[in-house]
Amino acid sequence: METNCLFCKIIAGEIPADKLYEDDEILAFRDIAPQAPVHFLVIPKKHIKGPAAVTSEDDKLIGKIMRIGNELAAKEGIDQYRVVFNNGEQAGQSVFHIHMHILGGRSMQWPPG
Ligand code: AMP
Repeated sequence: METNCLFCKIIAGEIPADKLYEDDEILAFRDIAPQAPVHFLVIPKKHIKGPAAVTSEDDKLIGKIMRIGNELAAKEGIDQYRVVFNNGEQAGQSVFHIHMHILGGRSMQWPPG
């Protein structure tokens, strides 16, 4: 657990979240400010500050995040969706604990703004 990390506090149960899935390695919860009818985040319990901080040690963990996200998307009733990892402020990262966004339930534009 990293002090002053919002998502570490959610993992620790210090801040509430609308949880969709939890096991010993991973937590998924609805985004507090949804940008689509379905918008949730899948995070590792291990504190990794962002996509660029992933190492070979995390290969299995990142694959599992993708699989859990796919399974939750199916449970949420969406089979078409956008998957986003933001890396760095310029890319839109505001919480520095790696998280995978899954957004669906509406049409999306490309490229993103
Ligand atoms: P990013 O901008 O890629 O770092 O994404 C961070 C996401 O976390 C944003 O979409 C926020 O709406 C979301 N978020 C911030 N605080 C919370 C919270 N307490 N519970 C759920 N989602 C949150």
